[in-house]
Amino acid sequence: IPSRLPDVGTSIFTVMSKMALDYGAINLSQGFPDFSIDRQIIELVHRYMVEDHNQYAPMPGAVALRNAIASVIGRTYGRSVDPETEITVTPGATEAIFSIIAAFITTGDEVLLFDPSYDSYNPAIRLNGGVPVHLHMRQPDFSIDWAEVRQKITSRTRMIMINTPHNPSGAVLSAADLLELERIALQHNLLVVSDEVYERLIYDGTLHQSVLCYPGLAAQSLAVFSFGKTFHATGWKVGYAVGPSALMKEVRKAHQFIAFSVNTPVQLALAEYLQTPDHYERLGDFYQQKRDFFLEQIKGSSFEPRPCKGSYFQLVSYRGISSQPDVAMAEELTQKFKVAAIPVSVFYQDKTDNRLLRFCFAKKEETLAKACEILRKL
Ligand code: PMP
Ligand code: GLN
Repeated sequence: IPSRLPDVGTSIFTVMSKMALDYGAINLSQGFPDFSIDRQIIELVHRYMVEDHNQYAPMPGAVALRNAIASVIGRTYGRSVDPETEITVTPGATEAIFSIIAAFITTGDEVLLFDPSYDSYNPAIRLNGGVPVHLHMRQPDFSIDWAEVRQKITSRTRMIMINTPHNPSGAVLSAADLLELERIALQHNLLVVSDEVYERLIYDGTLHQSVLCYPGLAAQSLAVFSFGKTFHATGWKVGYAVGPSALMKEVRKAHQFIAFSVNTPVQLALAEYLQTPDHYERLGDFYQQKRDFFLEQIKGSSFEPRPCKGSYFQLVSYRGISSQPDVAMAEELTQKFKVAAIPVSVFYQDKTDNRLLRFCFAKKEETLAKACEILRKL
């Protein structure tokens, strides 16, 4: 039986985390925190399990959690969304993205996306018969060339995917970007998938520009979020999609046969935990400190950091150290020097190699300090 994805191997995140483990390297590759999550939310999950909330949750998500999400959205983006019809809880942002694509993309439909792009987008489009059209973000600032976007729109273009704050570059889209996207989406009747999993990991006083803040755009968008990022619990795999009811109705048709629902006790715990804004509103400050600590520690090395405005990833150029390709550099760094990073070329469909590595700074200070002690010696 022929493969649907003959060119796809194992995700780079799995490959690098395994290599880090095999070689005893400090793992700054795959994006996940190495510190504990809040005891309070663990106790809430435990309590809901003991109280016997262990059967299927409603297909679109536990009612209490959808209500809590709607009030967080109102508070954060000033937008009123109907929890009954406009929010769906999913097993991570990944399944939300897949369900959205499965719901709307059919054979030959073109989807515009920007490289470097998150690794699940392209296979999700192709598994649903779509044609990914990869554009490059501009160097060195990883901005979007909207004039090029306009040129690439054809009669088959159905969807455009954005990600802000951006993995792996740490770039963020501006209000002007969103307004231009809104004009393009409305003019060409495109569906927008907005991956906003790092919505709260944004620094230096910059405001996150959600599609939910732009009424024209929101009417044609599905925004995707992840509690994995917001509550440091990537292993829980709980996220959600937000969008107009007519679109969400279609997304739910796919979601109900891909995952059906998400585990009940964690949803109920999240619903309760979200009642306290302090639990999520200070996240930007928390990670900004980590970014700044990492930058401070890497100073004096020959690695050259690129600006990081959001996400928990820091790009660095290693041109001052080596001219080898980034995949080889990441392997050598992991195997020989015992610090694991992600090579950025893997986020490019055409494997463009700008000689950049991605370090995840969602780590304890001691982990970052140990890694940087090694990096400073290279
Ligand atoms: N989109 C981006 C840009 C991400 O970085 C991630 C997580 N690494 C996801 C989606 C997937 O999130 P989740 O783990 O909630 O599926
Ligand atoms: N999103 C995480 C990263 O970019 C990894 C998620 C995964 O391993 N699938 O590192």
